[in-house]
Amino acid sequence: MSRSFVEVAPDSHFPLQNLPYGVFRPRAGGPPRVGVAIGDFALDLAALDEAGLLAGTGAEGRGLFDRPALNALMAADRPTWRALRAALTRLLGADEPALRDSPALRDAALLPMAAVEPLLPAEVGDYTDFYSSRHHAANVGAMFRGPDHALPPSWLHLPIGYHGRSSSLVVGGTPVRRPRGQLRPAPGAGPGFGPTRQLDYELEVGLFVGPGNPLGRPVPIAEAEEQIFGLALVNDWSARDIQAWEYQPLGPFLAKSFATSLSPWVVPLAALEPFRVPGPPQEPAPLPYLRQPGPGSFDITLEARLNGELICASNFRHLYWSMAQQIAHHTSGGCNLRPGDLLASGTVSGPTPESRACLLERTWRGSEPLRLACGERVWLEDGDELALTAWCQGDGYRVGFGEVSGRVLEAL
Ligand code: MN
Repeated sequence: MSRSFVEVAPDSHFPLQNLPYGVFRPRAGGPPRVGVAIGDFALDLAALDEAGLLAGTGAEGRGLFDRPALNALMAADRPTWRALRAALTRLLGADEPALRDSPALRDAALLPMAAVEPLLPAEVGDYTDFYSSRHHAANVGAMFRGPDHALPPSWLHLPIGYHGRSSSLVVGGTPVRRPRGQLRPAPGAGPGFGPTRQLDYELEVGLFVGPGNPLGRPVPIAEAEEQIFGLALVNDWSARDIQAWEYQPLGPFLAKSFATSLSPWVVPLAALEPFRVPGPPQEPAPLPYLRQPGPGSFDITLEARLNGELICASNFRHLYWSMAQQIAHHTSGGCNLRPGDLLASGTVSGPTPESRACLLERTWRGSEPLRLACGERVWLEDGDELALTAWCQGDGYRVGFGEVSGRVLEAL
């Protein structure tokens, strides 16, 4: 098994096999830069580039790393990503002296995680949120429309999504203010305006778009994965009472636009390859433009914790629609995707009660409250901290996503 000269604990999310990309600012000062996570360190790629250690990758000398966002690197092509990843794997390997045996370079480039402030990884131009877990869609549909009309008629034919708000994306650790909005305090009552009483989270995984496609030129499904730069965790905070009152007929609006949290480290698709698995069988068969050759899902364990206590254990493989299908569908009408666009999966609920990946489902709209050490919960309360984490379990190592957390602040 390949090892790094940097010590990495077996349960660390960031072994040599992962090398997720992120953007950080050294707490000691200085501008933001692009790096990768290795064990408990962040490796400054701008410093490596300046030292000439990225020569021959196609990424060197282009100013890709001295930046406050990953967009320029995302806009590069897959051969560049591949060559850069190979160079970083070699430079961090136990047998490679270039970085290992240079104390000055190590001091400059290898910063303890505690010494850096993680930033939002990309400038997200457009953010799309899908609805791709059949379990989630069926549960929510059954609650609001009854079991006979749980899935909308198009659900099994196309990956449903809506256009999210990118301006309110925040990096993990950022507190989230309870929104005020228009809602009905009781079923049938007239609307009022006030703090949401039904604040929820949604456990999701998002993909970052790489090079993108020109306007008017759909991405064929066989080429769709070439557009995926990497994956991160997404918490799609949701105000259910605001959502229930506003969502028809155009979908969620202010119920979700107040904040969406992102994990800071973006796991490259290449690091997930060993964990590729088939998704659920699709019946009826999708139309030809949505037929993916080969398995399109990944075995990624997903967890949510409320004030430290496990409230959801799910897996990315439960998603009905794959990322390639989402990209092929998204672009099928000619819509262009751009570097750094975010496509989130939708709530990744699985088949069991424990795998229901938001409180709306987990408490069945409040009829089954959670009994936790911090007290009984139906919805999130002020001061609550919600944290998502995810990882793939390899043989003696984990390819992990780190964590995305947020504490709820009282309404203003
Ligand atoms: Mn969502």
